[in-house]
Amino acid sequence: MKGLAGKNALITGASSGIGQAIAIRLATEGCNIAINYCKSAEDAEGTEEIAMQKACGQVEGCGVKSLLIQGDVSQEEDIREMMNAVVEQFGGLDILINNAGIQKECASHEIPTQDFDNVLSVNLRGAFLCARETIKYFLSQNRPGIIVNVSSVHEKIPRPLYLSYSISKGGMENLTKTLALEYAEHGIRVNAIAPGATSTPINEAWTDDPQKKAVVESHIPMGRAGTAEEMAAAVAFLASEEAAYITGQTLFIDGGLTLYADFRGAWSA
Ligand code: NAD
Repeated sequence: MKGLAGKNALITGASSGIGQAIAIRLATEGCNIAINYCKSAEDAEGTEEIAMQKACGQVEGCGVKSLLIQGDVSQEEDIREMMNAVVEQFGGLDILINNAGIQKECASHEIPTQDFDNVLSVNLRGAFLCARETIKYFLSQNRPGIIVNVSSVHEKIPRPLYLSYSISKGGMENLTKTLALEYAEHGIRVNAIAPGATSTPINEAWTDDPQKKAVVESHIPMGRAGTAEEMAAAVAFLASEEAAYITGQTLFIDGGLTLYADFRGAWSA
C-alpha cells in the first residue's frame, strides 16, 4: 500500500491476535516493526519470525527491521522506555498502533473497583499515554505521523456484563476524534478500526467451541466471525497514504454487526 515502505511502526500488544496480524501485515508492506508485548517473549518472537519470513517474500532486498519491546501500556514509565527504544533503534517513529486490550466479564453492580480500573488503564489510559508520547515526539521533530486505535463495535453498542470494556471503547471514539481535530494542522492523522467478533485469543470462550461459535455467528449478518488479517488490512489502509485525507474516523469491520440485524425482518411494520 502506498507510503508504507520504510516507515517505522510501533504496535502495542502485538504478540497475539489482531496486533500480531497488524505487525505481520505492516512488515509485508515494508514497515520496520516494533513488536510490543506485555508477558510472553516467546509469543512475541513468534510474531517476529512470521513477520520477517513473510516480509522477505514480499519486500525487495528484504530490508525490513524488527524489534521486540516488553512493556505494560498501563505503566507510564514502560511507555516512555518503549518510545525511546524505538526512536533509538529505528532512528524515528512514524506510526503508532494502539492495539493492546483486555476485557473482564462481571455483572456491573458487582465489578471490583480494581478490575474496573485495570481494564480502563490498559484499553483507554494506555492508548492515551502512548498517543501522548508519540504526538510529543512528532511535534518535537516537526514531522507528520499516524495513529490508529483498535477500538471495537462496542464503542457504539452497549455490552452488558462488560461495562468497563464498553466504556473504554466508547472513550476511544472520543480519544480518536479529539486528537484528530487537535493535531490535524500538524499533519498528524488519528483514526480507529472497530472490529466485530473476531477469532482471536481474547474470544477463546467461544472460538474453540463449535456450538458457541455458531451462536455468535448467527447474530452476524454476513454469517461468520472476522479474521485478524481482515482487521490488519484495514489498519494498513488507514496507516498508508491511500488514506491521506482521512482523519478522526472509525472504520467498522464487523460483517454488518452494527447494521441492526433484527431489522432484516419487518417486525416493526
Ligand atoms: P488478544 O488477547 O489476542 O490481544 C490483546 C493483546 O494485548 C495481547 O497480546 C495482550 O498480551 C496485550 N496486552 C494486554 N494487556 C497489555 C498491557 N498491559 N500492555 C501491553 N499489552 C497488553 O485479543 P485481540 O482480539 O487480538 O485484541 C486486540 C484488540 O482488539 C483489543 O484492543 C481488543 O479490545 C480489540 N477487539 C477485539 C475484538 C475481537 O473480537 N477479537 C473485537 C473488537 C475489538
